[in-house]
Amino acid sequence: MDDELKELYQQVILDHNKNPRNFRVTDPHTHDAEGYNPLCGDQVHIYLRLKDDIIEDISFTGNGCAISKSSASLMTTLLKGKTPAEAEEIFNRFHELVAGKSDELPDLEALGKLAVFAGIKEFPMRVKCASLAWHTYHSAVKDYGSTVTTE
Ligand code: ZN
Repeated sequence: MDDELKELYQQVILDHNKNPRNFRVTDPHTHDAEGYNPLCGDQVHIYLRLKDDIIEDISFTGNGCAISKSSASLMTTLLKGKTPAEAEEIFNRFHELVAGKSDELPDLEALGKLAVFAGIKEFPMRVKCASLAWHTYHSAVKDYGSTVTTE
C-alpha cells in the first residue's frame, strides 16, 4: 500500500475516533450485545433495531482504543439500512481482510471504507480491536436467523 493511501486511511480512523458516528443508544432497539476485548481493554455495546428485515438503526456505546472505536463507528455507517444477509456479506469481507486468510489482494473497491483496515493484519494484536464491534454485532443478531459464521 502506498504511503499516501496509508495516510488517508489513518485520517479516516482518527476522524471516526474523534467524531464517532451513531455513538448513542438506539431507542427502542430490538437487539443488543456487549463485547469485550481483554487484550486491549476495549468495551463496546452494540444496539440495533430490525424492522421488516432491515437494520433500521444501529448504534454503539463503549470505551476503547482508536481502532476499536473507529471500527465500530464505520460499521454502524455501513450496516444501517442493510438486511442482515447483506450485513453478513460485509462482515465476511471484513473478516477476510483483517484476518488475512486469502493471499489475494482484497477487492478494495467493493470494501469501500472498510479498506481503511486493509493494513491491520500486519498487527495481530490490533485485529481483535478492529473486529470486536463486528463480533458483537454478530452475537446481537445470532438469534435472528441470519447465518452465523464462527471463526
Ligand atoms: Zn483496542
